[in-house]
Amino acid sequence: MDIFSEIDPIRSFIKEKKADGKTIGFVPTMGSLHEGHLSLMKLAKEKADEVIVSIYVNPEQFGPNEDFEEYPRELESDLKKCEELGISAIFTPTDEIMYGYSQYLRIEIDELNRYIDGGSRPGFFEGILLVVNKLFNIIEPDYAVFGQKDIQQFIILQQMVTEFNHGVELVMGPIIRANDGLALSSRNAYLNEEERQKAPSLYRSLQYIEKQVVGGVDQPKLLLEHQKSELEAKGLEIDYLNIFARKTLTPVETLTKNEQYIIAGAIWVGETRLIDNILIEF
Ligand code: AMP
Repeated sequence: MDIFSEIDPIRSFIKEKKADGKTIGFVPTMGSLHEGHLSLMKLAKEKADEVIVSIYVNPEQFGPNEDFEEYPRELESDLKKCEELGISAIFTPTDEIMYGYSQYLRIEIDELNRYIDGGSRPGFFEGILLVVNKLFNIIEPDYAVFGQKDIQQFIILQQMVTEFNHGVELVMGPIIRANDGLALSSRNAYLNEEERQKAPSLYRSLQYIEKQVVGGVDQPKLLLEHQKSELEAKGLEIDYLNIFARKTLTPVETLTKNEQYIIAGAIWVGETRLIDNILIEF
């Protein structure tokens, strides 16, 4: 497995592979890899001949009061996991290489980041678009795999690929969970034992809402209020818990047939913010 931190050498590496007729799959990550990340790499391997993984904690997607400094960094064990999976190359640039100039352009998002995580984390998706746009230009992959765990990210990136004519096909991998339902996340490492026990409540709430909606509840307001109170009673603080239209990423009051919806929530478990979602179509 080759490890690159600079742009020109990884470009040459990929150029050679493409000259040999190989297709390139790409999985961007912030490292501290868990089974969720590994599942995306396996998907990428099914799609493409050579898989490149980037490991880069992108400062541009963290707000001033967020956890950029504390974010777990475990490069050595990450590299081992990638090597075991048969990843072709790792791109792990420094901030200097990614953003080594005093000013740069940003991509503005019109509507798609008004709610869900975009509503709570100003600048978050602009930071993601900036880094993924750069990474796509460096790697020029045929396929790029992202997780449903960050479904708003996937939908906004799909829009970027379409609008900016990136020649890449995006693939969405399912959410990988612990046995008790908690979605795997690098941030789960922040949870103490008591918090870890409470954390799966979010997914249980989403599942309950899904069951009610599939069972015929088409005006979910009261249902959502009730689930929020239940979570709060467990000592969890709610950032949002709502049902959004998949197309527009806006909250819906009345569900209609033949539409796709996202039941999504973000909660604070102590100092840790966790997100999760369920995609439904009915
Ligand atoms: P991150 O390192 O958190 O930026 O995540 C890198 C990629 O892994 C993103 O596409 C995430 O959506 C995806 N991901 C994170 N957690 C999971 C999970 N539990 N299951 C599947 N994919 C995940």
